[in-house]
Amino acid sequence: MYDYDLLVVGSANADLVIGVDRRPAAGETVLGTDLAVHPGGKGANQAVAAARLGARTALLAKVGDDDHGRLLLDSQRAAGVDTVGVLVDDAPTGVALITVDPSGDNSIVVSPGANGRLAPADVRAATSLFHASRVVSVMLEIPLETVAEVVRSLAPGSRLVLNPSPPRALPREVLDACDPLIVNEHEAKVLLGPSRVGDRPEDWAGILLAKGPRSVVVTLGADGALVASKDGVARVPSVAVDAVDTTGAGDAFTAALAYRLGAGASLAEAAAYAARVGAAAVTKAGAQESYPTAEEVEAL
Ligand code: ATP
Repeated sequence: MYDYDLLVVGSANADLVIGVDRRPAAGETVLGTDLAVHPGGKGANQAVAAARLGARTALLAKVGDDDHGRLLLDSQRAAGVDTVGVLVDDAPTGVALITVDPSGDNSIVVSPGANGRLAPADVRAATSLFHASRVVSVMLEIPLETVAEVVRSLAPGSRLVLNPSPPRALPREVLDACDPLIVNEHEAKVLLGPSRVGDRPEDWAGILLAKGPRSVVVTLGADGALVASKDGVARVPSVAVDAVDTTGAGDAFTAALAYRLGAGASLAEAAAYAARVGAAAVTKAGAQESYPTAEEVEAL
């Protein structure tokens, strides 16, 4: 019996958002809207998304001893996430500086801060969390050696879900453990590099699968997703909604997929549910603020 449906190991950032008419050129200053501060970061987002759906969720992450760190801890606790694994460091909490122009396009600068201090030793010290978790989800906004230590720390029988964001080359040891590797179009293209064959996501999934993961999921925004494993490649239809803000949809998708896999769903079933969660998330503004409950997913 596992205590947690999902353990998320990853980043926690304060998202500092300013609307601008246009981005400043080098050396220029422009005026923007009032500053909005939101809890974010892929790890924190995934943990909140899973907990909102009813998953028993724990987060292993590192924040600073500052207001942003407290904001993140508060939002995790409000969603029902167990924060026993959230460590407080003397580095500042990670920050994403986000400008949004009138067309809705984002420009983002991330200062990793405490996320960069989440070390392999922190993973080893959290062995009890790993042994209590059916599924572990990790992404790349933390040091790569920490991601590799997560792979080594998986309890027998537990399952790893990995979203390689921001994308970079992964060691074979990490790739082999992914079940699934979840990529969006951009991440797929970076991981495939010059070996990319054509523009069909089905082909990308097949090539990624050959690199070692036990399964692969490619998310395709409003076009849904596709799943690939040794059983073949299958399309996952999207749910038609009026999209308001796609921020954090990928994190909601990943968290929902991981949760359903842990509950015994097949990859295709879990991805179909995750597509509904992703669709619900784009119907509201923001990231964590947009994540649906299980009832809201049913009602979609
Ligand atoms: P982000 O980086 O914005 O968090 P992402 O690029 O990682 O997102 P997407 O592929 O955009 O991930 O979205 C994840 C999933 O959410 C999609 O596979 C799809 O199921 C759902 N989704 C996203 N956008 C829409 C949309 N406009 N309409 C319906 N479903 C959507």
